[in-house]
Amino acid sequence: MNYYDYIIVGGGASGLMMAYRMSNDPFFGDKSILILDKQKKINNDRTWCYWETEHDEWNGIVSASWKNIIFKSELNSAKESIAPYQYKMIRSKDFYSKIWAHLETKATINFEVANVVSIHQRDNEASVITDDKIFKTKTILNSILYTDSHKKQSKYPVLQQHFVGFFIKTKKAFFDVNAATFMDFTVAQKGNTRFMYILPYANNEALFEYTLFSKDLLPYNDYKVEIEKYLREKNITDYEIIEKEQGSIPMTCYKFWNHNSKNIINIGTAGGWSKASTGFTFKNTTKKTIKLVQYIKQNKPLPKFHELNKFWFYDLLLLDILSKKNHLGAFLFGKMFQKNAPKQILKFLDEDTSLAEDLQIQLKMPPINFIKALLIRISKFYIGYFSLIFSKLKL
Ligand SMILES: Cc1cc2nc3c(=O)[nH]c(=O)nc-3n(C[C@H](O)[C@H](O)[C@H](O)COP(=O)(O)OP(=O)(O)OC[C@H]3O[C@@H](n4cnc5c(N)ncnc54)[C@H](O)[C@@H]3O)c2cc1C
Repeated sequence: MNYYDYIIVGGGASGLMMAYRMSNDPFFGDKSILILDKQKKINNDRTWCYWETEHDEWNGIVSASWKNIIFKSELNSAKESIAPYQYKMIRSKDFYSKIWAHLETKATINFEVANVVSIHQRDNEASVITDDKIFKTKTILNSILYTDSHKKQSKYPVLQQHFVGFFIKTKKAFFDVNAATFMDFTVAQKGNTRFMYILPYANNEALFEYTLFSKDLLPYNDYKVEIEKYLREKNITDYEIIEKEQGSIPMTCYKFWNHNSKNIINIGTAGGWSKASTGFTFKNTTKKTIKLVQYIKQNKPLPKFHELNKFWFYDLLLLDILSKKNHLGAFLFGKMFQKNAPKQILKFLDEDTSLAEDLQIQLKMPPINFIKALLIRISKFYIGYFSLIFSKLKL
């Protein structure tokens, strides 16, 4: 009774997207799939933004989109078109209801509310332990971060993208709905990388999100005070807060995928699908789930699903810098946006640029910090390499 062909642990963004894709593919038509989550998600617990060309598969649930973005720092301030992209916003409740409306029509999809305690690789199968049951399967697709092993290691720096957002409604029309503020670094940096992120989705409604790329979270009140201060400075005083959101996304090059095993693959943030230098995950999840479905169909080894690329290394250098000199974010991003077209930066962050295009962006960045970070990484690599050789020789 407790055996399924596939068990999806966690029915959030990546788990539901995997279930959606699998249930749309005839290959899985006779396969039993179980989704486990503490709750069946229906509420608006987060807002996902990503950039894409005008038509993409989530268009039906995109609640707002912008053709221009604003970037602000001490170095420069610009509102620019991002064509051919648009910056798009999805409310998670619309995503959950679209996916569940589809999954509920599929006889092969099962859902159970359960607190998952642990998952285990057995000889030739995997098991899931919940508070009161044990489930077995050939393949677990897991989106829960069980351990904080990424925080306990020191090989790769770990920052968090952490934020509090207020959805506000003003009495009078106040906002320009043609442009989303991607990053406004003119807020006090206080030794960190701090910026305001603004999504005006109606002329009197907008999300203001006070965001940091730093090691430690702030007390809740600090984010709140900064949003209120920012609104006052913009002369936005007559407003009501209609919704709030809060989040913290790991920013690290830690190799989450090393935890994948013969019968378990980690997906979503738990699988390392959050872009290390920005925390953006939604679009990556859209792409990775398509790839993973094909990969599973071909019965390829799960530990080899992840392919390391040059962007992982670029992110590592940036995080090396920001973890040591956290105040440099405004300057580095400022330089990046001062000298490069935003659409090219978005292409780069999407990991779609060629080496020549990467260089065009990188050569316009201040070289000294990156060269130092590169040399330290190279020396760390050789120290690690030689200590491994010596430890083997001793044996
Ligand atoms: C507030 C917020 C805003 C974000 N905005 C963006 C954005 O604009 N763009 C972007 O690209 N990314 C964004 N992200 C990052 C990322 O896209 C989301 O975190 C995304 O939901 C990650 O998907 P996931 O499947 O890895 O995790 P989740 O969506 O969090 O899914 C994990 C699921 O596991 C369940 N679960 C956890 N523990 C247990 C347990 N013990 N037993 C059973 N079930 C359990 C949870 O209930 C949850 O449903 C945001 C994140 C947050 C928190």
